[in-house]
Parts: sequence; structure tokens; C-alpha cells
Amino acid sequence: MTTFSTERPVAEALDAADPLAGFRDRFARDDPSLIYLDGNSLGMLPLATADRLTQLIREEWGSGLIRSWDRWIDLPWQAGDELGRCLLGAAAGQLLVTDSTTVNLYKLASAALGARPGRRVIVTDDDNFPTDRYVLAGIAAGQDVQLRLISTDIDEGVTAADVRAAVDESVALVSLSHVAYRSGALAGMAEITQVAHDAGALMLWDLCHSVGSVPVQLDQCGADLAVGCTYKYVNAGPGAPAFLYVRRELQQQLRQPVQGWFSQRDQFAMGPAYDPAPGMRRFLAGTPDVLGITAVAEGVRLLGEAGIERLRAKGIQLTSYLVELADAWLAPLGFALASPRDPERRGSHVCLRHPEAARICQALAGAGVIADYRDPDRLRLGAAPITTGFTEVWDALDTLRQITENQVYQEFRLNMSEL
Ligand SMILES: *Cc1c(COP(=O)(O)O)cnc(C)c1O
Repeated sequence: MTTFSTERPVAEALDAADPLAGFRDRFARDDPSLIYLDGNSLGMLPLATADRLTQLIREEWGSGLIRSWDRWIDLPWQAGDELGRCLLGAAAGQLLVTDSTTVNLYKLASAALGARPGRRVIVTDDDNFPTDRYVLAGIAAGQDVQLRLISTDIDEGVTAADVRAAVDESVALVSLSHVAYRSGALAGMAEITQVAHDAGALMLWDLCHSVGSVPVQLDQCGADLAVGCTYKYVNAGPGAPAFLYVRRELQQQLRQPVQGWFSQRDQFAMGPAYDPAPGMRRFLAGTPDVLGITAVAEGVRLLGEAGIERLRAKGIQLTSYLVELADAWLAPLGFALASPRDPERRGSHVCLRHPEAARICQALAGAGVIADYRDPDRLRLGAAPITTGFTEVWDALDTLRQITENQVYQEFRLNMSEL
């Protein structure tokens, strides 16, 4: 039997041996005592991004004015290509940074249906992120399309066998999250994509909780379509634009429904009729968010420098350490792991289940540890590999243990909306 030491010097030694430790100083830390375990919801601010945005605002916008569009106009695919190269295993010319995940999902899922005439079913799972389920339901309701829901274990996630049982020759599209937003369960991208393809369906992956935390190989897995956001592990800031991926061979076949002028073949001819641009540009809609895309490019640059393989290795180490401490300290206090136990089967966040999770989460925030709560009774702890240290994990779990042991959470009241 291996012995696991819960002593704090173990965490300190792990930090001392961490090749990525230096990256932690490249983020704004105005309150050094704050422990931030929510980088999977809103990543921290890279100091370089603050400088770059200030420069862009003062020089490119302030002085350059409309003349700066010459350098801005290519940003959606320049940032997309870098994102694909550094984090998503995608060759150039298949990614754009544009719009929100929600809007991109609508554009790509609608386009996919159009490319599979005669097939009237979309498959997703009943525990997919709400926006995914709502958007797909909206598309289905607007046409003669059925949304087929796989019922999923909320802690273990979707398996290839689940998908195999749900697809047939009536399915146009399978749309799933790669890393589950609550449990962090990691779906088998290559295997599930193959299952969708065997049934003749297209496969759309939502990468919101994977990009920047888990290596993704879109090209190698044969994924058709993907979307994802950049304000979580990519640290691009609140509401920063999302990305979309369309496999090269599909680009000419697909037509997205938001036929904005940025997707028009000859945009500045201002002509009477819509004619989609060849290639990826047809998946744009309107004027790109220059400030937001610039923040995405900075976030990608930082993660690229750290290296996605090293980030993944550290993410596995951090969440495994967190789970070991939780087993030792928190299981006796009524907590249970609500994420896959095998680190290869989860992303970089972990859920713990406890009947008082909502109030415990508030008490944690009061003690300087930011995590979040997800229904039902889950405390979600994100260990963003580029910003989180092992000592922080130790301190956070020690605080959690004390709050629970001493029932400090009793002093906190739930908001009415949480009852
Ligand atoms: C965070 C998240 C979203 C968010 O979509 P927005 O359009 O940015 O609000 C979508 N899907 C998943 C799986 C997410 O985790």
C-alpha cells in the first residue's frame, strides 16, 4: 500500500519541482492571499494582456482610428490558426475566433442539418451544458427535427456505447461536450466521432472546458465541427469571443444561417444578393470584436509557451492531489467525489458532493477561497494548470475541512434563488 502524506511540505515540494510555476507570476494577483479555484469559469488576467490591450486602445484605436482596420481585418483567422496550432491539433484554415459559443453552436448545428438532407434527428445528452441543449432544442422546434437525448450519469459522463445506442440512419448530427461542465468527465473524442461517422452523422464538439486544459486533436480525431469559449482556461477575459472549427473538406458544403456581410464573398461590393465566401470566412457574421480577439491571441500565446502537454501533466497532478486530500480529510466529513476517479478520464476540474455544498461554497468565499456551486449539491473546484499551485490546493482543502468540521457554513444563508 502506498502511503500518502497530507503534510503541507509535500505541497511546497511539488510547487518547487513544478516547471510551470513561473507562469503564475505572469497574472494579476492584487490580493496575494486569494485562492482562485474558478479559472475554469473565468480565467485570471494575464499581465501581458492588460499591457497589450492598453496599447491597442491608445495607439491602434486612439491614434490609428479607422486606418487600423488594415491590420485588424485578419484577426479572426490569425487568432484561430494559432489556437488550432497550439491547443487544438488543427491545421491552419479551419478555425475562426468570432461571436459567442452559443451563437457559433447555432450557426454550425444549423449548417450541419442542411448538409444532411433527409435526416431529421439531432443527438445530444440530457446533461449537456444548458446553452447547448437550449440552442439545439430551438433549432429542432423551428424545423421538423427531433432532439434525441442520451440519458447520462452526471458524474461519469457520456460513453461511446451510449452514443452507439442512440444513433441510426435518421441522425444528422451528434453534438456533445468534450469535458462535462459539472463533473469534468472527459469523453472519448476519437471513438465517439467514429461512432457518429459510422451512422453517417456529423459530429460537433463543444470544447469550452477542454481548450487550454486538455490536449485536443481535432484533425486526427476526424471531428467535423467544434466550438468553444476563451474566457475559461484561455484567460481571454469576460465575454471574450469564442471559436469555431469546420473541417476543411466540409467548408464548401456547409451554409450557416447568420448571413452577415462579413461572410459575403465580395464584402465591400455591397451587392444586392448574398453569396457566401469560399472557405472559412463564410462562418463569420458581422464586424469582429478586435479587443476581444486580441485578448484571445495573448491568452493562446501564454498557453502555447507553457505547452499543452505540460499543462495537461500538471492538471492531472493537481486534480489527483486534490482528490487524495479530499479522500483523506473530507470523505470522513460527508463529502464524496462526483467526478471520474481516473485522472485520464477527467479535465482539470473536480466536483465534490455534500448536502451542504451551496452554503459551504459561500463560507469558502468568505474565507478567501473562490470555487463554485453547481446543482445538485456539488462543489466545483477548478485547478487551472497555468495559474494554480499545489500549496493553494492544500490551503483550499484545509480551509474546506475546517469550515465543514466547525460547521462555519451554518452562518450562511442561501439566497432565495438557490432554495
Ligand atoms: C461555458 C460554456 C458555454 C458558454 O457559452 P457562452 O455562449 O459563452 O455563454 C457553453 N458550453 C459549455 C460546455 C460551457 O462550459
